[in-house]
Amino acid sequence: MSDCLFCKILADEIPSDRVYEDEQMIVFKDINPKAEVHLLAIPREHIVSLTELEPQHDALLGHMLRQLPKIARQQGLDEGFRTIINTGEGGGQIVFHLHIHLMGGRNMPGFE
Ligand code: AMP
Ligand code: ZN
Repeated sequence: MSDCLFCKILADEIPSDRVYEDEQMIVFKDINPKAEVHLLAIPREHIVSLTELEPQHDALLGHMLRQLPKIARQQGLDEGFRTIINTGEGGGQIVFHLHIHLMGGRNMPGFE
């Protein structure tokens, strides 16, 4: 997807501050952090949103979710963290490449 911001980050056409990567996903710092720690986990495959998920993506999503606790710990979030997935315009999604917000530390928004 040539006009996708996160595909450009995956291709290193746009710089990002990566904190984790493997063959299926990368994790980088949100450019406009809403909490002390605010990361975005994205699949290397261009998937628009949760709405576009197919059964073939089950292993990918399971893999991504299982990496998050150790990435959070590496960021110093020993007490826990919050994950958010915005889906569609009504869900506040701005970048249409599936991403999981991982937040923690001071100034965490919402749901207290
Ligand atoms: P969403 O509203 O769920 O689509 O979230 C998109 C997120 O991407 C926002 O939190 C933005 O701050 C973040 N973002 C936008 N551009 C960049 C970028 N170049 N590098 C890192 N994060 C970005
Ligand atoms: Zn993309």
